Amino acid sequence: MRLGRIGGVVSVMALAAALTACGSSQKTVDAQPSAGSGAGAAGALIGVTMPTKSSERWIHDGDNVKSQLEKLGYQVDLQYAENDIPTQANQIENQITKGAKLLIVASIDGTAITSQLQQAADNKIPVIAYDRLIRNSPNVDYYATFDNFKVGVQQATSLLKGLEGKKGPLNVELFAGSPDDNNATFFFQGAMSVLQPKIDDGTLTVKSGQTDFKTTAILRWDPATAQKRMEDILTTTYTGDAKVDGVLSPYDGISIGILSALKSNGYGTSGQPYPIVTGQDAELASVKSIIAGEQYSTIFKDTRKLAEQTVKMADAVLKGGKPEVNNTKDYENGTKVVPAYLLDPVIVDKTNYQEIIVGGNYYTEDQLK
Ligand code: BGC
Repeated sequence: MRLGRIGGVVSVMALAAALTACGSSQKTVDAQPSAGSGAGAAGALIGVTMPTKSSERWIHDGDNVKSQLEKLGYQVDLQYAENDIPTQANQIENQITKGAKLLIVASIDGTAITSQLQQAADNKIPVIAYDRLIRNSPNVDYYATFDNFKVGVQQATSLLKGLEGKKGPLNVELFAGSPDDNNATFFFQGAMSVLQPKIDDGTLTVKSGQTDFKTTAILRWDPATAQKRMEDILTTTYTGDAKVDGVLSPYDGISIGILSALKSNGYGTSGQPYPIVTGQDAELASVKSIIAGEQYSTIFKDTRKLAEQTVKMADAVLKGGKPEVNNTKDYENGTKVVPAYLLDPVIVDKTNYQEIIVGGNYYTEDQLK
């Protein structure tokens, strides 16, 4: 399997770990959180930091974590940093100063808060990495996330499903997420584990020639950057009759950028339909786009369940217990393997959104109109 050069945040160990991601059994482990005596748990302040409100999923995440913690009697300081790294670092420092007894962090740059986490450790404040692994710090006690390698596998699987029956040779283009987000490399590696053999056997052609993580990565998952990259590819590579048949997109916001670039280049008409475009997060606009036949699919990661799992972890740690984890080998963060709980992602497309999204009460039928 050829993965190309990948960004600085990924270690070979992380890759090896990712490749063995399947099938770890559920168990509890003897990790040693830095605090949690039980006595101090009642009414304790918990600091929650989320990356940005510019993507809907993080709003759901923040709301769910906050309300579930409050239900258990905790006080919550919830902060968003609009993808600005120093802002997030300050927010964490403030939470430590305010006397937070535990931190839940969805990082912007997984390597950029090492000194804040050291400060937390010095104050015996345990830290749970939320959705995104915090890298290069020993001061991360637990990690709650989805099976990120599997997300990529599902994105690629869905791309191939959408391309089934189309006449080859098939032109696809690849997009990856933010290089400072550990998840982005897992998604890309998962996707390439499915796509690379199809590229190698000639089923798929990446006409732009851009197949490595570094070239395809979109800093901060920014839709406008993705739109610009898609426009550049269309202008330089898809001249004459050449058309794009599929686009691997790692996130719904990026898919929206890609679709608008395609639209301004004449796609999205009955004569020239959109290519198969994947996504992630089941954001409202993208589920609507799937229903309208524009975006092909998304990966649904139920933020309610992630919040629930994280809150259970936090509660257990604060009461001096051991949280449930189901993976103790795949998330090596540069200094140690962080014990993790992985949830299952689900492919959603036009054929099952009703069952999964509406049936699961994630959005109502009315919201999707
Ligand atoms: C999350 C994805 C999300 C992306 C952009 C990743 O870390 O796991 O669900 O699409 O960030 O916000």
